[in-house]
Amino acid sequence: MKWGMVIDLKRCIGCYGCQLSCKAENGTPPGVFYARVIKQEEGQYPTVQQLALPVLCNHCEDAPCVSACPTGASFKWEEDGIVDIDHDLCVGCRACMMACPYNNRYFNDQPQHYFPQGMTPYETSRTDRHQKDVVMKCNFCRDRVRAGKSPACVANCPTVARIFGDLDDPMSEVSRLIKERGGFALHPELDTRPSVYYLPP
Ligand code: SF4
Ligand code: SF4
Repeated sequence: MKWGMVIDLKRCIGCYGCQLSCKAENGTPPGVFYARVIKQEEGQYPTVQQLALPVLCNHCEDAPCVSACPTGASFKWEEDGIVDIDHDLCVGCRACMMACPYNNRYFNDQPQHYFPQGMTPYETSRTDRHQKDVVMKCNFCRDRVRAGKSPACVANCPTVARIFGDLDDPMSEVSRLIKERGGFALHPELDTRPSVYYLPP
């Protein structure tokens, strides 16, 4: 079993639903985005086109962040391939952040919140789980997935541009889409073997 995600760039409308639902689910502090949408304009007036590229941790098969971690805090779950962080083992050295070529890790160094009057009760319930002075990142909403749900970004994408499934199963929807639609990963030349694939726009 190897969990993976396919993002269909033809269906993505760049609405930031994934980015926002991830923040709501994980209660990440300002400046921390486990899921984010990169926008870029291409072409020249009047034939200008805006492209949206949603990104998140790629849960790389050969993850440089895991090999760079000196304490074993960054690790890969054997049973499902998810790359995760044991925050009790993280010493905040940030070696993994420097090793990740996709910039998908963040350092949580101070209590932060969005509203000047302090945290809402919902924010408090979500942010209390985050330890300080450690590195944080997406873990494919592993708790949700283990409970039989899909990651929050997948469940809340209004155009069903994000599909989650088992890359080891050749009959799964993710495997079928990658094969039939020419799915590609970001920066294949790095040999990190990501578990997040994109379908061409
Ligand atoms: Fe694209 Fe779906 Fe994310 Fe909206 S929620 S930006 S449509 S992937
Ligand atoms: Fe590690 Fe970065 Fe790959 Fe995620 S995208 S597994 S943080 S190297």
